[in-house]
Amino acid sequence: MKIKLSNISNNENKFNSIDSSATIDVKNLIGNIHTKILVYRLNERFIARGNIKYSLELTCDVCLEKYNADFDKDFNLVIIPENLFDKNNIINDEFIILKNNSIEIDFNDFIKETIQISIPIKQKCKPDCKGLCPICGKNKNYYECSHKFINIDPRFEKLKEIRKKINEERN
Ligand SMILES: [Zn+2]
Ligand SMILES: [Zn+2]
Repeated sequence: MKIKLSNISNNENKFNSIDSSATIDVKNLIGNIHTKILVYRLNERFIARGNIKYSLELTCDVCLEKYNADFDKDFNLVIIPENLFDKNNIINDEFIILKNNSIEIDFNDFIKETIQISIPIKQKCKPDCKGLCPICGKNKNYYECSHKFINIDPRFEKLKEIRKKINEERN
């Protein structure tokens, strides 16, 4: 998404764009990226508030199946002309530096980065994914195999408890 500076008035300016991976090169993207941005002019700076919606194809860590995940991200941005940029003066807000003589604001790198950061480190197709049978390897979300996994060994029970605790702490 690119917005021409000449299209930004002093009031609230609404922009929408639909981008494909041809414009914003993101791995695993399904369909398009929908971006809505409100831009305000503030002296020589710009304030942008917006929202990005997109879907990614991820791979479940538990059952190893691919799944689709929808994302809906709000953002706040300050766009600062290069000559006014002072890195000691940046608080919290994310920003885009506007190169001298730019005629437009290019949001594409920001959008790409936002999507990349949103990819979860732990990927799970659903909260209660049953995973794979450790004996036959079948996906237990879809197949009922005859393998009962009864842990007779008390050491396994202990292990299970520890694992459960770790999982609870993670969630
Ligand atoms: Zn899964
Ligand atoms: Zn099995």
